[in-house]
Amino acid sequence: MGMRSVSIFGATGSIGQNTVDLIARAPGQYRVVALTGSGNVAQLAADAIRLGAELAVTADAGRLQDLRAALAGTGIEAAAGETALVEAADRPADWIMSAIVGAAGLAPGFRALRHGTTLALANKESLVTAGPLLLQEARNHGATILPVDSEHSAVFQGLVGEDIAAVERIIITASGGGLRDWPIEALAKATVADAGAHPNWAMGQRITIDSASMFNKGMELIETKEFFGVTPDKIEAVIHPQSIVHALVGFVDGALMAHLGAPDMRHAIGYALHWPDRRDLPVSRIDLAQIATLEFYAPDLTRYPALRIAREVMETGGRSGAVFNAAKEVALDGFIAGRIGFMQMSEVVERVLDAISPRLCLTSPMSSLEDVLDTDQMARQTATTQIEQMEMT
Ligand code: NAD
Ligand code: MG
Repeated sequence: MGMRSVSIFGATGSIGQNTVDLIARAPGQYRVVALTGSGNVAQLAADAIRLGAELAVTADAGRLQDLRAALAGTGIEAAAGETALVEAADRPADWIMSAIVGAAGLAPGFRALRHGTTLALANKESLVTAGPLLLQEARNHGATILPVDSEHSAVFQGLVGEDIAAVERIIITASGGGLRDWPIEALAKATVADAGAHPNWAMGQRITIDSASMFNKGMELIETKEFFGVTPDKIEAVIHPQSIVHALVGFVDGALMAHLGAPDMRHAIGYALHWPDRRDLPVSRIDLAQIATLEFYAPDLTRYPALRIAREVMETGGRSGAVFNAAKEVALDGFIAGRIGFMQMSEVVERVLDAISPRLCLTSPMSSLEDVLDTDQMARQTATTQIEQMEMT
């Protein structure tokens, strides 16, 4: 068997760095084709050199000279900009990690499917905005999509050897995020620093804030529906402060299969990297007696309106996922920039869904990637307008 070729999109981020770590621990086992990043050009170049990549791409067109300089004399190609990113997905690789954050991750991952690759999908936005298109593209080209979000990797593992028709429910767990134990009245005043601290997982800033608001869990409910093709009434989220149980699959005979593991993304990444095999991974092992207690409780929808909105989006389907995601991204930018408060993020998303529906049939399916990007743009504009209006009042 030849050496396995891999590319990592979003290599400089939290998921990307965990992926780089696993590849770097197996010298001589992988041929690294492309690594991509955006602003962090020094990290990108250092990893490209360390892993012996053929190509490094920064999404930031203005950083091409910096990247070239950092790679001078190494023989590693440098490229920059959005087009270069999609072109990097045209370079054949057996396994591609999709770990760019946000809707920007959709186009490169979508393109990679055309070449029949195995796409390890961390970029949940791809499934939320364009689930049916993405799965269809994979089917058209004999490509494989493997989930990397920890909950979805856990569900996927729970389904090995099972018939999806025998699944009665899928339960994904949520830590409750950094503000879980705050009094509900205090949430309106939460700062970016408050919301950006996670009790259990070390992740990128955006997903950490999305965990505190549970927009992340809302995205994951939609992701579950899209990826596993089950109806919304079978999908639940439960709060589990210890983050040891990642997901549970319930079957028609009443059995409930749980996936337990340390909160370390290298498990889900490694599972996708070695699938369908299992290999030794450098993650800590669970000591049940030491943990002693695992707690579970139902989320309060007043505290987490994102869960209620996500459920509506699951029911609506069509374009509503793309609108939800784009509005959420703009609302998150608004919160990070100090323009709106923590609880106003869900208000923005809800207003955008309401305001856009007379102009856009939310239930109608998406016909192409352009369609998704148009919907995304329209939702972003609407969200920007909503935030401006909220700032004035
Ligand atoms: P991050 O912010 O740490 O890293 C994001 C990566 O994307 C970086 O390499 C960055 O350079 C690149 N990037 C940012 N904006 C870009 C743009 N416009 N165009 C191209 N590249 C761009 O994010 P992360 O926490 O690693 O998350 C990555 C994805 O994985 C997200 O979709 C997230 O929801 C998902 N995810 C993350 C975790 C986690 O533990 N961090 C867990 C589950 C799912
Ligand atoms: Mg997750």
